[in-house]
Amino acid sequence: MDKSKLYELICSYNDEMLELWKNMVNIDSGPDAHEGVKKVSDIVAEFLRNIGFLTRTINFPNAGNMLVAEYGDMTKPFVIITGHMDTVFNKGAASTRAFKIEDGKAYGPGVLDMKGGITIALFVLKALLSMNYRKHPIKIILAGDEEIGHSCSTAPQEFIKEGNGAFAAFNMETGFPDNGLVVERKGMYQFMLEVFGRGAHVGNAPKNGRNAIKEIASKLLDIEALTDWDKGNTFNVGVIEGGTVCNSVAAYAKIICDLRFVDSSYLPDVKAALQKIVEKQYVEGTKTVLTSIVEFSAMKRLDTTMELFALVKRTAQEEGFRPVTAKAVGGASDSAYLTNIGIPTVCAMGVIGEHNHTVEEFAIVDTMLERAKLLAAVLVNV
Ligand SMILES: [Zn+2]
Repeated sequence: MDKSKLYELICSYNDEMLELWKNMVNIDSGPDAHEGVKKVSDIVAEFLRNIGFLTRTINFPNAGNMLVAEYGDMTKPFVIITGHMDTVFNKGAASTRAFKIEDGKAYGPGVLDMKGGITIALFVLKALLSMNYRKHPIKIILAGDEEIGHSCSTAPQEFIKEGNGAFAAFNMETGFPDNGLVVERKGMYQFMLEVFGRGAHVGNAPKNGRNAIKEIASKLLDIEALTDWDKGNTFNVGVIEGGTVCNSVAAYAKIICDLRFVDSSYLPDVKAALQKIVEKQYVEGTKTVLTSIVEFSAMKRLDTTMELFALVKRTAQEEGFRPVTAKAVGGASDSAYLTNIGIPTVCAMGVIGEHNHTVEEFAIVDTMLERAKLLAAVLVNV
């Protein structure tokens, strides 16, 4: 395939790309907007059908839907392009912070994470197919509830089922300013610890109290002490709440914690250690309850991922693009489910920017075409 023609074609889509990117950013598709996820999904599905893909949605009663699209003979080894259509922002974000471009940066909820990445994938496929790309079958898998860790859906199982038969995957997640591509990610386990004590008047009957704050404060230190820097298991107690007024013994307290781990095989031991902390009692008469919130598998660094990364790196060199590097990060992504079943996966192929998950989130507009050319060349070479 004539790559310079391919790049020319991609660049000619620039205005259409910006338009689609804007349209998707201006739809609320946060955790409370499943119908917004569906709207984004419908836009993407229509686009893909127009260029020859077959599409289907996988619906969940309590979560944003998944979109799966296929092109070519899926009985043959295929390439996956993946990502997610949901954002972390609740309803109203799209109207208060609508898509805008200022000084070469695009702003808006999910502009970086990861509606820019989806835009890139769509137009790269449009360009490739209109230049008669037939090398491999292609499957697109877009989740609708990634940001809440698929806590209300069976999306992880769907990833595993849909991923079967793929020989390579690219995740269009948030790109990094250092041009690093992600080959390894930590897993995540978020949980809540609640302590139920007994309230009491601190003047009249202090001995009747069972202080939930004192209990949870002791346990908080135990939890933080489970951090193992050598193994890469790190705990963070990020939220604490408890008590009502200072002249009453606190009857209730809670903490919300986040564990990151490099290897999912560490998790059973860590959970056992946590259970011991739950059962331990510092303040007699208190009760502690642990509730799991979200669990996200780690993305393993596979040897085959490193081979796939080498192909991306070589492609960037040959094409005179900015050099790419391989990196490991602490943030989780759906790439984990694909690497769990042995599919080499290069992640963070999307538009480049900073501050995702915050209102300062922005994407560097020029990187849309930069990353589109990279993905297109990689798909030709893989
Ligand atoms: Zn993301």
